[in-house]
Amino acid sequence: MIADADDWRTRDLAVLWHPCTQMREHPHALPLLPVARGDGAWLVGFDGRRVLDGVSSWWTNLHGHAEPRIAAAIGRQAQTLEQVILAGCSHAPAVELAERLLALAPREAGRAPLAKVFYADNGSSGVEVALKMAFHWFHNRGVAGRTKFVALTGSYHGETLGALSVGDIPLYRRVYAPLLLESLFAPSPDAFGARDEAAAIACAERAADALAALFDAHAGEICAFILEPLLQCAGGMRMHHPAYLRRVRELCDAYGVFLIADEIAVGFGRTGTLFACEQAGIQPDLMCLSKGLTGGFLPLCAVLATQDIYDGFLDDSRERAFLHSHSYSGNPLACAAALASLDIFDADDVLARNRATAARMVALAAPFRTHPAVAEVRQLGMVVAIELHPEPDNREDGHAVEIAGRRGLRMYRAALDADVLLRPLGDVLYWMPPYCIDDAQLDLLAHATATALAEADRCA
Ligand SMILES: *Cc1c(COP(=O)(O)O)cnc(C)c1O
Repeated sequence: MIADADDWRTRDLAVLWHPCTQMREHPHALPLLPVARGDGAWLVGFDGRRVLDGVSSWWTNLHGHAEPRIAAAIGRQAQTLEQVILAGCSHAPAVELAERLLALAPREAGRAPLAKVFYADNGSSGVEVALKMAFHWFHNRGVAGRTKFVALTGSYHGETLGALSVGDIPLYRRVYAPLLLESLFAPSPDAFGARDEAAAIACAERAADALAALFDAHAGEICAFILEPLLQCAGGMRMHHPAYLRRVRELCDAYGVFLIADEIAVGFGRTGTLFACEQAGIQPDLMCLSKGLTGGFLPLCAVLATQDIYDGFLDDSRERAFLHSHSYSGNPLACAAALASLDIFDADDVLARNRATAARMVALAAPFRTHPAVAEVRQLGMVVAIELHPEPDNREDGHAVEIAGRRGLRMYRAALDADVLLRPLGDVLYWMPPYCIDDAQLDLLAHATATALAEADRCA
């Protein structure tokens, strides 16, 4: 039993090692937020205090915390089949979810559709799956030397060693550099600072030209190019024009390189369409889905692949098979949660409702454009990013690290004092709320942001 918030903090710090945290900062610099339960967009403390989840609990939550329809689906599934080995066995939720994801996946005229689903149990593992599949496919073809992956500067694909190898956030990566694969990095098409669409397209074209040059210089060495379509999230909520994705698709085809779309954070409506690739009209060869896949209830990852990739592993030899597995691959509870989440998209017409919510977010964020500390306000679907001018004395590679530097901490605390959980990514304050957020909650979000910006001003 947890008696009260202080008791809770003491017991927590006695036994827990928190993710992505310098534990020295707890509890003084960085207060721990005790959460007793969730209710829609609210996190509710032991004392009944309500804090708005402005970051959808690390971008996982879609329809609200403790959403009753998803909770009920998990409960029903738990009483039917909680888990079964997915090698050699099959179960209804895994099959139904695969059918539905493939039917919803981005389509491109004249290209064979994504046709198979491989389950992993979290985003990083799914990225590992996609990278290994791409490499192994060439290996099975007898093609030697296609051992390199290409990723974008400012990219983030997870924390396991393979996923970290294709990531480009120095503070997360640097220490482990001696252990990592040698990936190639192409410049991000990031349109930060672009005045209008023409300027954003120019960024996209320049970056695509650089990618072409990289592909050319390493022809025959590259097996896959991985990117976060339209929105580099952990890299600072940086956005790019869909024109880049169209060029990428052409270049990957021209150089025989697999295109891996990491839609782990942007999938399931976050950018306005169900999947970000749709906005460019392109279809990847491999697509990774996680985070919002289960509505934010349970860890699960689905890697969608083309028939061609799948066929490359069919053989009499087991060595040519994809012998990758996770104990909980395709867990029935997680698949049931994902099916219930997809049902909610239909029942509540979530994408249409989000268009109205996103318009309101844009209107509420507009006044921040003229704030002296703010360099840019940008928006894509259900994401608003308010980028501040760099903090002069921040030596922490803080541009893309959560709650970095003195200013990051002060903004985090100011927002929390105003009852909103915001985790600034270095210089970027962003909104990524659950889709169920209502008008009053949006007003609170804007108010807390104004408070945090006032605090940022005081640091300057
Ligand atoms: C969060 C994230 C991952 C890693 O997912 P985990 O479930 O945290 O391992 C990979 N790619 C992107 C784009 C992400 O945002």
